[in-house]
Amino acid sequence: MILTAQWVLPIEREAISNGAVVVEDGYIEAVGHKDEIVDNYPEEEVKDLGSAIILPGMVNIHTHLDYTALRGENDNLPFLPWIGNLVHKSRALTQDEVLLSAKLGALELLASGVTAVGDTTATGASLQAAVWSGLRGVVYQEVFGMDDEKIDETLSDLEENFRNLKEDSNSRLSVGLSPHAPYSVSRWLLKEISSWAEQEGIPLSMHLAETEEELSFLKEGTGPFATTYRQAVGWEDIPWQEPGLSPVEYLADLDILTENLLLVHLVQTEREEFDLLQQFDVKVAHCPKSNAKLGTGIADLSAMLDSDLTVGLGTDSAASNNSLDLFSEMEFGVLLQRANQKKADAVTAEEIVRLATIKGAEALGLDEEIGSLKPGKKADLTAVRIDNPANQPVYDPYSALVYTASSRDVILTMIAGEEVYEAGEFKNIIVDDVVAKIDWITDKVDKL
Ligand SMILES: [Zn+2]
Repeated sequence: MILTAQWVLPIEREAISNGAVVVEDGYIEAVGHKDEIVDNYPEEEVKDLGSAIILPGMVNIHTHLDYTALRGENDNLPFLPWIGNLVHKSRALTQDEVLLSAKLGALELLASGVTAVGDTTATGASLQAAVWSGLRGVVYQEVFGMDDEKIDETLSDLEENFRNLKEDSNSRLSVGLSPHAPYSVSRWLLKEISSWAEQEGIPLSMHLAETEEELSFLKEGTGPFATTYRQAVGWEDIPWQEPGLSPVEYLADLDILTENLLLVHLVQTEREEFDLLQQFDVKVAHCPKSNAKLGTGIADLSAMLDSDLTVGLGTDSAASNNSLDLFSEMEFGVLLQRANQKKADAVTAEEIVRLATIKGAEALGLDEEIGSLKPGKKADLTAVRIDNPANQPVYDPYSALVYTASSRDVILTMIAGEEVYEAGEFKNIIVDDVVAKIDWITDKVDKL
C-alpha cells in the first residue's frame, strides 16, 4: 500500500511535501516524493490522505494506563496528598475495573496518534490493555518497599509479578521493572533490583527528583515524606538514614546509573547532573504538564538537550495531566520552556516533535524498529488532517503539528502496517462499551 499526503515527516531527514510512504508486510518499504514513489511502485494500491501530515507513530514514554479512570477526579491537591489519594482510590478498584481503566487509556493513545508506550503498572492491567489494543512498547512492573525487614518478601512478590507480566506479554511488548521513587523504595531494595536488572538486561524506570519534598527527604531526612512515614508506620524514627545527597547524586553513589535506566521527571536537578547522567547514557522522560499541574516545578529541558541527553516525552497518568495526548504535551512543553527562559527559541517545534518520536523510541530502546519513517522500520505511523480552518495555512508542518493541530485531528493510526484507528473508528479491536462502562468506576470512586 502507498500512503500519500501533502506532507510526510520522516524525522531523520527533511520534511517531504507531496510525500508518500510505501507499506509492505508491516514494514516501511520506501519513503519519498509522491510522483517518484507511484512511478516506482505501479502495482501498489494508493491511499491518498490529502491535506494531511504523515509522521511516525508517536511514543509516549511515561504513562500509568491503570489510572485513566481517575482523570479529573482530584485536580487541586498538592503532591503528597495527591499521591495519597491516588493510592487510596486506585487500591479500591477491582482488577476488572483497573483493566477497564487501562483499556480506556489505550484507546485514547491510539486515537491521538500514539503507537508505542512506556507504561508503569502495579497491577499488570496496563500490559493486558496494551496487548488488547495492539500497542507497542515497554511495560514496567512497579514496586514499593521502604521496610528492609520485608525485603525478601518484596523481592519474591516482584519476581512473581514480573514473570506473570512476561507470560501475558507479546512480541510487541517488553517487560521492565520500576522501583517507584527514592522515597518509596529503600536503598537496599533499589540495589537488589538494579543488580538483577543489570544481570539480565531488564529495562528499568524510576520517578526521580520530582518534588522539593523528595529533595529534603534525601538531603536532610526531613519534610513531609519523613513526617508521613513516621505517622503512617508509627516508627519513632523511620529506618531511613538520609544519604545527604541530591536524587541524582544518590543514584550515582549507589552505582546504579546505566543506559538501561529511564528516569522520569528530573525537575529538581542541577545542570551538571544532566552531564553526569549523559556520561552513563541514562534516558529521561520529560513530563511538563504533569509537573505543572501538580505544582512541582519546571524541568529544564533545554539544559537536558544541551547536555545531549536522550529525552522523550511522557504525559504521566491521566490522574495528573489529565490527558495522554502528546500534541498537547508538545505544545505546552515548548511554550513552557520559552516562557520560563524568556527565550523565543529555547526549544523549537522540530525538536519537540523529535522528542515525541525518534528520541522517545531511543529512550525505550526501540529506535531500531520505530520512531522514524525509514525503509526497514516497522510501519507504525499516524496522520493528522490539516484541511480545517484552524490548521490553515501551513508554511511549516512541524509548526502546524505543535502549535495548531490537536489530537482530534488524527485521521489514521497504523501499527505494523495495520490500521488500528481511522476516521474516528477503532479497527480490529473489540472496543465493547469501554467508555460507557467507565461510569461504574466513577460512581464507585465518588463514594470513596
Ligand atoms: Zn509517573
